[in-house]
Amino acid sequence: MNHELKTRIMKLDLKIQPLSSWITAKAQPLLIAGPCSAETEDQLVATAHLLAATGKVTALRAGIWKPRTRPGEFEGIGSIGLEWLKRAKAETGLPTAVEVATAKHVEEALKAGVDILWVGARSTANPFTVQEIADALKGSDVPVMVKNPVNPDISLWIGALERINNAGITKLAAIHRGFSSYEKTAFRNEPMWDLAINLKTHAPELPIICDPSHISGNRELIPYVSQKALDMDMQGLMIESHIDPSVAWTDAKQQVTPSALSELIDRLTLRQPEVVNTQVKDALAELRNKIDKIDDLVIQKLAERMKIVEQIGNYKKDNGITILQVNRWDEILQKRSNYGKALNLHADFTEKLLELIHSESIRKQTEIMNAGQGEAPVQEQLTHS
Ligand code: PEP
Ligand code: MN
Repeated sequence: MNHELKTRIMKLDLKIQPLSSWITAKAQPLLIAGPCSAETEDQLVATAHLLAATGKVTALRAGIWKPRTRPGEFEGIGSIGLEWLKRAKAETGLPTAVEVATAKHVEEALKAGVDILWVGARSTANPFTVQEIADALKGSDVPVMVKNPVNPDISLWIGALERINNAGITKLAAIHRGFSSYEKTAFRNEPMWDLAINLKTHAPELPIICDPSHISGNRELIPYVSQKALDMDMQGLMIESHIDPSVAWTDAKQQVTPSALSELIDRLTLRQPEVVNTQVKDALAELRNKIDKIDDLVIQKLAERMKIVEQIGNYKKDNGITILQVNRWDEILQKRSNYGKALNLHADFTEKLLELIHSESIRKQTEIMNAGQGEAPVQEQLTHS
């Protein structure tokens, strides 16, 4: 992340009402659940009844306008779904939440008395769309949740929150639903927790709700992601639940039945963000003190290492030697990884750390070798904070 952006986030000035002023959790954690898409009146209403019966669900979600990546897929049932949501709410007492992507969606949803609106990941990625939604929201005080954009760009996420907030919406929350990444991993959308934590650090009053369904992309990973979200002190979960996921028209692999959802929630461990017990507090303070000292040493040693790198850079320059010698890098990686393994460090961790250090060394040497030809950009890895 560049310096300019960091200062911008620091100054993030959102006017936010606390989550408890617009949503009262039925149980802990706060849970918004419902099908990916409203498909039929029966499917939606029956799912809502089962969800309400768990006693754990605070609000019912359902997509009625579905922004699909490819044409030809089910694009949502449309406005008729609003009537079904009304019925589901009347029969279960659950407040309702839908995704809006145009001014018309906002107008129709507000007219139908939908309680919470959310901006989807594809919309957040487009400032024109967000502004259109924001303009349509003016004069209303409906709660709005803004999903992170599809791509890992925290500025777009912040920009969307600001646009909605500037329209006068103060019942605001962010939804963390993971990010597209070129590398294929076990997740449908890489969680990139550091981006959500970054948002939290710079706007501590902004509630963040995690959407483990879209991060996971499959049922199996949802418990893991949900627990991690709670451990990251997120304020709630949005989980897709369908009366019969095997026949769901969208996102079938990641939806869970209401009873599976209930069991999943029971298995989560809720931890305290604040330490209340003084004995625990003292013990933690002592351990943190030790960590602080070690961190200082690590930084000091890294600075020493970079000084030597500079000397090497000058030496290579004077003798016309290339910056990168692959053999030397291989040797470093090999030896240090083995050393790390012997000391119980995860191989991936040691490798990533070495790559980060190595890329900074190369950047420094490039600067020395090419003095007068412009500054080398700080490496990608260093900007990912
Ligand atoms: C959804 O919530 O069903 C949805 C479309 O999610 P996202 O915008 O996160 O892809
Ligand atoms: Mn979905």
